[in-house]
Amino acid sequence: MSQQRIRLAQRVEHRRDGQHRRLRQDKQGEDLRGGKGRALGHVNGLGARPGSRKALVRVQRTGRAGASRKRHRRVANGSAAGRARWCIRPRGDVRSGRVATDAAGYDYVIVGAGSAGCVLADRLTASGRYRVLLLEAGGTDRRLFVQMPLGYGKLFHDPAVNWCYRTEPDPGLAGQADHWPRGKLLGGSSSINAMVWIRGHSSDYDDWQAAGNPGWGWADVLPAYRALEDWEGGADEFRGAGGPLHVSANRRDLHPLTHAYLGACAEAGLPGTPDFNGAQQEGAGVYQLSVKGGRRMSAARAFLRPAMRRANLTVRTHAHATRVVFEGRRAVGVEYRHKGALQLARAGREVILSGGAVNTPQLLMLSGVGPGADLAAFGLPVLLDNANVGGNLCDHQGLNYTWRMKTRTLNEVLRPWWGKALVGARWLLTGRGPLSMSINQGGGFFRTDPGLPRPNMQLYMQAFSTLLPRAGERPILTPDPFPGLSLGLSNCRPTSRGRISLHSADPFAAPRITANAYATEADVAEMLAAVKMLRRIAAQPPLADLIAEELRPGPAVSSDAELIADFRARSGTVYHASCSARMGPDAADSVVDARLRVHGLAGLRVCDASAFPTLIGGNTNAPSILMGWKGAQMILEDAG
Ligand SMILES: Cc1cc2nc3c(=O)[nH]c(=O)nc-3n(C[C@H](O)[C@H](O)[C@H](O)COP(=O)(O)OP(=O)(O)OC[C@H]3O[C@@H](n4cnc5c(N)ncnc54)[C@H](O)[C@@H]3O)c2cc1C
Repeated sequence: MSQQRIRLAQRVEHRRDGQHRRLRQDKQGEDLRGGKGRALGHVNGLGARPGSRKALVRVQRTGRAGASRKRHRRVANGSAAGRARWCIRPRGDVRSGRVATDAAGYDYVIVGAGSAGCVLADRLTASGRYRVLLLEAGGTDRRLFVQMPLGYGKLFHDPAVNWCYRTEPDPGLAGQADHWPRGKLLGGSSSINAMVWIRGHSSDYDDWQAAGNPGWGWADVLPAYRALEDWEGGADEFRGAGGPLHVSANRRDLHPLTHAYLGACAEAGLPGTPDFNGAQQEGAGVYQLSVKGGRRMSAARAFLRPAMRRANLTVRTHAHATRVVFEGRRAVGVEYRHKGALQLARAGREVILSGGAVNTPQLLMLSGVGPGADLAAFGLPVLLDNANVGGNLCDHQGLNYTWRMKTRTLNEVLRPWWGKALVGARWLLTGRGPLSMSINQGGGFFRTDPGLPRPNMQLYMQAFSTLLPRAGERPILTPDPFPGLSLGLSNCRPTSRGRISLHSADPFAAPRITANAYATEADVAEMLAAVKMLRRIAAQPPLADLIAEELRPGPAVSSDAELIADFRARSGTVYHASCSARMGPDAADSVVDARLRVHGLAGLRVCDASAFPTLIGGNTNAPSILMGWKGAQMILEDAG
């Protein structure tokens, strides 16, 4: 195990020899395909027409470490000259708007290699019957801070792997514009997230079904969840073992404060639950993590990397989809920018959008599907007028309370350079220690009112604190210079709704994100009740004995008005944007049907968090992966 870890670090950090070259190619936009020695050709020269005697082909070998080379060849009759394994991809031109067609034919084109897109790529290619192209705007996930679980603090503001969106100034957040990280690399947000593995409450899925979406009730999704996971605790009626995605029980190396937190929750009236994803979600407990052997278990690692060995899957990184191409009302392909040139990939069967809850509605709008008046205002042709595209945006809002502690916390371990060196060496040699985990070790679900039918608030416990932020970093690896504890909260089913709209018709411009946090009285009232619970937990003996003082918001903040002003000023996204192209039976209030097909169009589906009918009570990676799994099942069934 330790040898493996050293090899991983060498590959990612030192980037040596053939591995080094493979990583570099991947970053520059390599086509990653199954089988050794596969290659793609590019017509070298803008707008060269297939068959033109002048057109030259730049052939780049791919899929084999260190084998990149260039040579020139003539194109004959628009198809690959010479050996069959070369395929020709004429170059288009972004500035002139010329688009070149990818001569390789595909059955399915998937946009976005995120949580859902990676699963789709795996499931749709497993039988070998279909040829699939997966387009990803970002690059490789073979990076040290992606593979190292706690490294996600370093990715939080890193534009190399993150879209780094900013919302409009939000009145509900005291006028502040929130930072919205979204993954931009293989694995998407599952490659930069905090790895907490939560399915949500079983009733969330029954709500989905009751809203007119057959096939999405708890009885339907439970078998899918069991099939896709490899739960460390072993299979039972709720959990699965032997599936592609390993879920760690996270029982080793827990910080002692986690046990004090669990004791304090019990004293505060929230007893423990052994498995948030099992029989009972409600209660306090230890978070399960998408981590295996001390490395992040992203959707790319679990599903995509194994599938990339198949010859019928092409993965194109640094390929930014600019619009879906239609013939009449049928989607027939995707236009995308790759290496500065515009390409068109044709889909014989379907186009599937998996760009996530921000980018999928943006791409639909850029393709003429969305609120007609808005699109027309940007000079975009309107193919299908549906105001729900980008609407119904849901997200969990959260914040932390912070205490100075009398006992040792992770701050003292992670802050000094020698502490980092020690935990770094431990991670490299054994795959264990704080770097192999999420910063959220403990958690919980509770009701702010005992009359509620199910928990409406989620808890996060962190044996560290970051009151003194550093510019441009989420200072998980550089915490406060004193012992600190944070207890965090987020709402489970907010009633406020935001919107994704366009800032411009430029496909490379960020969309406009209106979060609209705490826009309803109900959301404000339940958060007010919830922050009081944080103080109740901290006041119970196992924790209270270890606490020196409350630092933030501090004891001076005590009236309801002060507590509300504080959480408006300090809340922010907990990164669970969803529902922006939601599922439903009727185009009047949804975008896709229960089989994820866009209402009113053919050959086009949405399969990612934007298709959630409503936001679930819990984190959103597992349900996004579920979307990919169930979506692929439906696509294959419909293919006959
Ligand atoms: C910082 C952070 C922490 C989080 N922590 C947790 C957690 O602990 N637990 C949890 O369950 N959830 C967590 N989440 C949320 C969870 O990861 C996401 O909800 C989930 O990954 C969304 O999956 P998706 O498939 O909808 O989109 P994504 O995984 O975001 O994938 C979308 C992909 O599409 C690509 N793409 C977008 N537009 C284009 C385009 N035009 N052309 C080509 N490619 C495109 C993107 O680059 C990206 O790779 C977190 C998210 C973030 C950002």
